[in-house]
Amino acid sequence: MERWNLGSQLEAINKQHLYRSREIIEGPQGAVISVGGQRLINFSSNDYLGLANHPAVRESFRKATEHYGVGSGSAHLICGHSAEHHALEEELAEFTGRDRALVFSTGFMANLGVITALLNKNDEIFGDKLNHASLIDGARLSGARFRRYLHNDSERLSALLESSTCYKKMIVTDGVFSMDGDEAPINEIVKLSEQSQSLLMVDDAHGIGVMGAKGGGLLEKQALSQRQVPILMGTLGKALGTFGAFIAGNDELIETLIQRARSYIYTTAPPAAVMAATRVSLKLCQQETWRRDKIVELAQLFRQGAMQLGLHVPYSETSIQPIILGDSERTLLVSKALKSAGFLVTAIRAPTVAKGSERLRITLTAEHTIEHVNQLLLALEKNIK
Ligand SMILES: *Cc1c(COP(=O)(O)O)cnc(C)c1O
Repeated sequence: MERWNLGSQLEAINKQHLYRSREIIEGPQGAVISVGGQRLINFSSNDYLGLANHPAVRESFRKATEHYGVGSGSAHLICGHSAEHHALEEELAEFTGRDRALVFSTGFMANLGVITALLNKNDEIFGDKLNHASLIDGARLSGARFRRYLHNDSERLSALLESSTCYKKMIVTDGVFSMDGDEAPINEIVKLSEQSQSLLMVDDAHGIGVMGAKGGGLLEKQALSQRQVPILMGTLGKALGTFGAFIAGNDELIETLIQRARSYIYTTAPPAAVMAATRVSLKLCQQETWRRDKIVELAQLFRQGAMQLGLHVPYSETSIQPIILGDSERTLLVSKALKSAGFLVTAIRAPTVAKGSERLRITLTAEHTIEHVNQLLLALEKNIK
């Protein structure tokens, strides 16, 4: 493989303090996690509601494996679509207030599948600069003309839409941005999509479960209907604590995806037991509202403390609380120092975020206590210089 020069490329990545390595986790997700024999308070997980290791969710998973076994055996369109998949889809449709929902194996695949099923090179797609990588890749793969606007800059979006002569236009945005925790200006974007007759898609991977009275996400919080936001993507692997994703929308949309979304058609369906477990976590998500209240309470506590320390914490009401340090070496050093002090806080660097906005991405979950957050604040005070 000499001609590929991988060794020297890896070296270059390392020199820039951008080398990535994996922690080896030795137990379940939770506020405290076991890593290499060390117990760390975990401020890095997307298990926002603390459902990934919930006894009722585990029990439904275990029971379903007794009925269905483990593997789903094939793609949905062959013989992999079980009664559990089907029931979950109906429950997700009701949960999101949409006509129907379709389960995908991952959120990455859902985004690729929807965008490539709907758009081709004659069309135009408009996306926020900070949209998730899967939305960007979907746009590229579709062949549509791809226009990106500065983060949450609806004036710029409006100008781009006005200058477009394209017949079929689509706007796509994260609902809650994954590395910043801020919300899209969704009411303005809905207005722009109506004025320009563009199709609107919201990826609410970080809003589902965390926002809205029942955890329906940003669209529940803002009371936006299926007519206003025709395509909603949500993931099951974050706040819902399991694995997979879904698209929710009207019947024609869902049937089109079943016919045409290649990342739906040509892949193995997720295991039925994962769907059974998700049906339980979806109920818990809706009923146990204290989990959302807890996140709000901890976020307020954290923000107040971090600001008192003079840290740069952009506004976020969600589980995601970034501290911008703005330098990859420094971010990595602080993350390592926190690990020695007993905290797992991931250093987020380029290309996940723009150069100069390197950060610690702190995530607060319903499983954390006030004490955990106070301990983190103390450790930040000692280790950020
Ligand atoms: C995590 C995430 C995805 C991908 O979902 P997976 O199920 O992990 O593949 C898509 N969009 C956003 C905004 C995400 O945060």
